Amino acid sequence: MAKWYCAGCDEEMETEWDYEPKYCCNGYMCACQAKPINPIFCDKCVEQMKGAVSDG
Ligand SMILES: [Zn+2]
Ligand SMILES: [Zn+2]
Repeated sequence: MAKWYCAGCDEEMETEWDYEPKYCCNGYMCACQAKPINPIFCDKCVEQMKGAVSDG
């Protein structure tokens, strides 16, 4: 278990596995904006995304 922040709503959440954020670079002049390239989302945001997909 590890604690991290949801990439969707910034809520602190617990991950079931040892999540290690991977970064592309420091974000300078890059679209990654120094955010992890493997973002994680809380259950709420996952449900929202699922809903958005099934709506489409
Ligand atoms: Zn969230
Ligand atoms: Zn980058």
